Amino acid sequence: MLKIKNLNAFYGDVQVLYDINLEIKEKEIVTILGSNGAGKTTLMKTICGIETRRTGEIEFENESLMKVPAYKLVTKGITLTPEGRHLFPELTVKENLMLGAYSTKDKSNYEWILELFPRLKERLNQYAGTMSGGEQQQCAIARALMSNPKFLMLDEPSLGLAPNIVDTVFDIIKKINKERGITIVIVEQNANIALNAADRGYVLENGVIRMSGDAKEMLASSEIQKLYLGL
Ligand code: ATP
Repeated sequence: MLKIKNLNAFYGDVQVLYDINLEIKEKEIVTILGSNGAGKTTLMKTICGIETRRTGEIEFENESLMKVPAYKLVTKGITLTPEGRHLFPELTVKENLMLGAYSTKDKSNYEWILELFPRLKERLNQYAGTMSGGEQQQCAIARALMSNPKFLMLDEPSLGLAPNIVDTVFDIIKKINKERGITIVIVEQNANIALNAADRGYVLENGVIRMSGDAKEMLASSEIQKLYLGL
């Protein structure tokens, strides 16, 4: 579905991603692991054509994205939930959700989304900025789903959340994939939860892909256990 070939990315003259090659197949959940500053967020932004200068090739459904502006990606079925959520805190939950459907004008996912997120259904008229971190993360994912994506990218969905809330958020992520076949890429520092949810994983270190493989095999790998699972 998504093929990345020899991708390099730069902020000004500073290179941050080096010769990235990766492939995401339809209906997969893939996680991209890496520590602080590894380049995970930069990779998401670069796929979307935000902020960086890029060379190489990015193809989505056999079409190059290299000349497609970021605002058009949503109409191709690609959506990003950025790190830090970026909700509109002074709008209600319902208003935030409706903004997610602004570009596609398709609100057909709304009822499904309220079933997936009962917490949000109870809080539709609450200002998004007054909700807990876990509720805000759910609202950000729900807003992304309002655009009816085929391909959903989540940047650090576990960030700043208590462990039991992280479990709830990841259970919902797995349901989104299972119930609608939406392909999901999860950028995470929390290797344990991400590899448990994913089919496959990649490890990014200093802007280079260091390792990739089946998620269960990666969980069992002594290198991953030492570097990312603290075992
Ligand atoms: P984190 O988990 O801490 O967000 P990350 O793996 O997502 O880390 P990035 O945010 O992609 O890492 O950062 C990769 C490198 O690019 C870092 O060295 C960072 O300082 C640099 N960088 C990120 N954004 C910019 C920017 N707008 N301008 C210049 N350099 C940047």
